[in-house]
Amino acid sequence: MKIITIEEHFMLKNISQRVTAFNIKQNGGMPPANAAQKDLMALVLPTMDDIEDVGERRITFMDESGIDMQILSHAAGSPQNITDKKLAIELCQEANNELAGLIKLHPTRFAGFAVLPVADPEAAAEELHRAINELGLKGAILTGTFNGSFFDEEEFLPIFNKAQFLNVPLYLHPAIIQKEIAQYYYHSNNWSPVASAMFAAAGYGWHIDSGISVIRLIASGIFDKLPNLKLISGHWGELVPFFLNRLDEQLGITLKLNRKISDYYKSNVYVTPSGLFSESQLQFAISELGATQIIHSGDYPYLIDYNTRQFLENATISTDDKERIGYKNAEKLLRL
Ligand code: CA
Repeated sequence: MKIITIEEHFMLKNISQRVTAFNIKQNGGMPPANAAQKDLMALVLPTMDDIEDVGERRITFMDESGIDMQILSHAAGSPQNITDKKLAIELCQEANNELAGLIKLHPTRFAGFAVLPVADPEAAAEELHRAINELGLKGAILTGTFNGSFFDEEEFLPIFNKAQFLNVPLYLHPAIIQKEIAQYYYHSNNWSPVASAMFAAAGYGWHIDSGISVIRLIASGIFDKLPNLKLISGHWGELVPFFLNRLDEQLGITLKLNRKISDYYKSNVYVTPSGLFSESQLQFAISELGATQIIHSGDYPYLIDYNTRQFLENATISTDDKERIGYKNAEKLLRL
């Protein structure tokens, strides 16, 4: 069985350095991350060698763990959220060009998602068009929120419009959440600042944030406007699939949507494990959403798990479902 994984990250040193320089300048010469966030990053970040490599080192890992193809997207530190429109466009174009160049060296092993200059949604839509039609990328990644706004805001509609027009998916990926939210929910004197930073990020908080981002898009009526739009949500849907019944029964009755929240979710949203290789979560996702809505992913190199293939092969699910999750859904959604 072929294995295609869809949430795999890389970084381009040249781009990341310019993003960091811009962010420091914006923050009056100080790095925007606080000390606890920096300690946390030191704890969890992969080595630069791993994250920058889109060649031999990564291919060796893929060969040793039985992965045929990775769909690459930019890691943290991408130019997506640069607020200077001109610079955002320039750096996103460069990042997408460079990604397309790396894919060309190993076209059977890698495909990719574009990064978009969301500060200028019209330009972001144009860049998505260029990334798909000229560079051969397969969709785009939208990370976190932008400048305090979730992507359901009207201003971002051109991006979603274009994704439907091009028939490509948008991957909603978590990122560091707003300071005030982190402070309110995740800080306490009962644990260390590093624990607070982790609680607000990969420990729990940014998953809730990313799940809410998908719920907000549904609640905004995006799928009534764009019924063929496809979204992807990692970490088994960032806790949302577990609460679809509640969302239908409580939130749903207050919204003016054509269909139930769960209907949109089950037809327009794909979920992926992002390296959370838990059989009970897999079983739940299949029973709640169906195997047609699940695509495999490992979150390389944040997690480097040699069991990526075995997890699926050893799961007590049907061979048909393994094939759907392992590669068929990805091939169909991304037209590989
Ligand atoms: Ca990830």
